[in-house]
Amino acid sequence: MRYLPVFLDLQTGLVALVGSGELARAKLRVLVAAGARIRWYSTSGDHDIHDLEPAQLARIEFAKGDPLAADLSGVVAVFCAGAGDIGVAMSARAKSVGLPVNVMDDLAHSSFIFPAIVDRGDVVVAIGTGGASPVVARRVREKIEAVLPARIGDLAKFIGRFRKSIHARIPETPLRRRFWERVIDGPIGALVLSGHKDDAEAALNNIADPSAFAGALASGKARGQVTLVGAGPGDPDLLTVKALRALQDADVVFHDELVSPEILDRIRRDASRVSVGRRVGKPGIGQAAINHLMIAVAKSGQRVVRLKGGDAFVFGRGGEEVDALREAGISCSVVPGITAAIGAAAQFEVPLTFRRKALRITFLTAHKADDADLLDWSTLTDAQTTVVVYMGMTAAPSVRDGLLAAGRSPDTPVGVFARATRPNAKAAVGTLEQLPDLVTQVGGGPAILIVGDVVAHSAPWRRQTLNLVLSEKLEAAQ
Ligand code: SAH
Repeated sequence: MRYLPVFLDLQTGLVALVGSGELARAKLRVLVAAGARIRWYSTSGDHDIHDLEPAQLARIEFAKGDPLAADLSGVVAVFCAGAGDIGVAMSARAKSVGLPVNVMDDLAHSSFIFPAIVDRGDVVVAIGTGGASPVVARRVREKIEAVLPARIGDLAKFIGRFRKSIHARIPETPLRRRFWERVIDGPIGALVLSGHKDDAEAALNNIADPSAFAGALASGKARGQVTLVGAGPGDPDLLTVKALRALQDADVVFHDELVSPEILDRIRRDASRVSVGRRVGKPGIGQAAINHLMIAVAKSGQRVVRLKGGDAFVFGRGGEEVDALREAGISCSVVPGITAAIGAAAQFEVPLTFRRKALRITFLTAHKADDADLLDWSTLTDAQTTVVVYMGMTAAPSVRDGLLAAGRSPDTPVGVFARATRPNAKAAVGTLEQLPDLVTQVGGGPAILIVGDVVAHSAPWRRQTLNLVLSEKLEAAQ
């Protein structure tokens, strides 16, 4: 490591910027965004800058005169936007008065370099490559951006506000460290990270005995927390950044059968995994037992993730689980997932809405024929409604009959989309009349049924039409 990353306090003085044109303006924007006060020596004499707010402009001194003779009093660092003679001369001047200087694209005349920055308020990450490759630095920054929670800066600020008072109440350093670890990793940290600072503050103030709270972790008595995570339809790359983070932080993951092995692979290696889902033909342990287990494990102080296919709140019984957790006094949060309909629509190019043609979407479930018979299909007959049926493979004949009897046209385009976003995904498209036949063509679930004119815009429909045209042409040619 040749360059030591340090953080410059921009409140302690001015930053001198030397240069003009787009390069200087770009640097100016970065410095202004960072909160710096700037003295700008424009080498061309032109101080053109249009896209700043008045409050930002107020922080810029537009300096006149020769930048080579620039007054560097009160300056904490010098930036020179543009190499060449001016860069060399400014570098010498800055160094002669002991100021750090950066000359753009000129390592030899710079005493510091400008890192790529991840800016989350009070949490700032600086990435350097020793000046070797800004592109590599940017790639690293993208990776860090993806794993850092958006509100991590808020969390740091929040803790900063309480540091003194907690220091006074827990003088022992190891216990105090444990206290903050518990706050950060537990429900209070989760509240700040999900934007509920007031609730977090109330929870922190409610801790009557911080030492006991800190010690609870060691004795295993801490109250844990449950995160309901939507795993999406199967492709692990469709996990949200938040979902991935929750999987990496979990101690125990309770997952449904529907969650694909590739997604289970993303769980932290030493976390326990418990399959609690139903399998076709096998009942699973039942919702009451799942709730009971989650509550017991969370109460033992472990971080629990409840991982569900698609989205927890779309035919996923997430609502019942949240109710049960709240009743048991366990704090919980919900991370949304891509629901099967959205995954299938994207993969097979079914626009679920379409300008002027499809103005409504209904998601419904028809698990058994009885469910389908109970539905009021008369609300779903209008051609502008796209109907998406979850768990509808077995009940497909009843879905068709219900819609036809209510008056939806037998020619309505429909599709059966199986194992969407997984490697063995398959679609079958046709008309409403053919719906049960299409179900048999896809070779097993899970699958969703989509009914509506939008299916005629889908990729499989286009392919089918093209095949039809080709075979007609072939026949005509024979
Ligand atoms: N919470 C889930 C739905 C659970 S119900 C979600 O939001 O997607 C289970 C039903 O979801 C299945 O019967 C099937 O209709 C649908 N489903 C789940 N994954 C699917 C996939 N990869 N492709 C097609 N349908 C899927």
